[in-house]
Order: sequence, then C-alpha cells, then structure tokens
Amino acid sequence: MSKNCFNCGRKGQEFHGYSICDSCKKELRLFTNETVEKYAAKFTKPAYIKDIKDKLQFLETDLIKKKLKLLDILSKLEK
Ligand SMILES: [Zn+2]
Repeated sequence: MSKNCFNCGRKGQEFHGYSICDSCKKELRLFTNETVEKYAAKFTKPAYIKDIKDKLQFLETDLIKKKLKLLDILSKLEK
C-alpha cells in the first residue's frame, strides 16, 4: 500500500517510516554506501553510529519543541 509523499503529496514509497516520492527522495541527496563507509572509516563504525543516533535524537527533541510552541499558539488563537 503506497501513501502520498509527505513533502509534495505525489504517490510515494515507504522509506524509514515515511512515504516519499522518487523526486523528493532524490532531493534529499542521500549518502551512497561508499560515502557512508568513507565517513565510518574516518572515525570507527560504532562512533559514527553513535554520532548519527545523537543527531537523530537532537532532531526529534528539536521537532517536539517547535511543534509544542506552534500547538500552543494555535490553542491560544482557537480559544
Ligand atoms: Zn514528493
């Protein structure tokens, strides 16, 4: 079952829990396996994995903070 792309609404494919179309996926400029291995070799693979997980956690926290602020504004406006 394919859902609409989270970004543009066109037909998308599941990708790490989100639906995204080919065009928007291309715009993400995802790292190739070769690039990922190159970065992993600069640190150690576990250190690189930890770095990426820390960045993901920061993103989640930041998203929630921004979302809460907007939801708060909306709830005050809709009183
Ligand atoms: Zn799209």
